[in-house]
Amino acid sequence: MSDLERLVELQEIDSALDHSAYRRSHLPERIHHRELAAATTAARAALTRNLERRAALDSEYSALEAHGRELDTKIARLEGQMRNVVVTREAEAIQREIGLLRSERDADDERGLLVLEENEQLAAEAAALQEQIDAASIAEADAAAALAVADATLDREVAELADRRTATAADVPSALLAEYDTRRPAFAGVAVARLQGTRCTGCHLDLSRVEIEALRAVPGDVLPECPQCARILVR
Ligand SMILES: [Zn+2]
Repeated sequence: MSDLERLVELQEIDSALDHSAYRRSHLPERIHHRELAAATTAARAALTRNLERRAALDSEYSALEAHGRELDTKIARLEGQMRNVVVTREAEAIQREIGLLRSERDADDERGLLVLEENEQLAAEAAALQEQIDAASIAEADAAAALAVADATLDREVAELADRRTATAADVPSALLAEYDTRRPAFAGVAVARLQGTRCTGCHLDLSRVEIEALRAVPGDVLPECPQCARILVR
């Protein structure tokens, strides 16, 4: 086998390795697992927000209750005063104040009911979220197991290819190997192509008869290149 033929083989192995890497990041198992993980994370975040809101509602309710007790005390005190008041105008003033405190008390009660109502809705939502998280966690674990199997299959494939690469590269002269390694990044990983009929397998363009003649005439110590894409072109 000629050095260039070995280089083509090396290129095929490297392309297969690149393809494996692409497949690894695009595994349906990986995408599925990522989607489930994202859904679980979103549900957990929603549950955290839910708990925070409920904690805020709880403290608001406690504050309302404390305020209510304060108002009750004030009202009771004013009512006590009322019993001892003899001047009508003074009695009217106290009555007005009691009226204001009572409407404040009513407003507190109304708000308290709304707080309880919202809290109840949030508690139901939290239960649903928890169920969602539990189900998603199970699904996520299953997906992680499936992903591990798929990854292990790819690992075996890659290990096999890596062994083949080592063996093949060992037979390629080091200068040629260095040239190939240098060129690969510039050609999106494909530095060596074949001439199939009149077509370059690297850029998929046809070479003219003159260009093919020129390719045949390339001396043995010069790397033949595709005149269109400049990849090493092996006849
Ligand atoms: Zn080409």
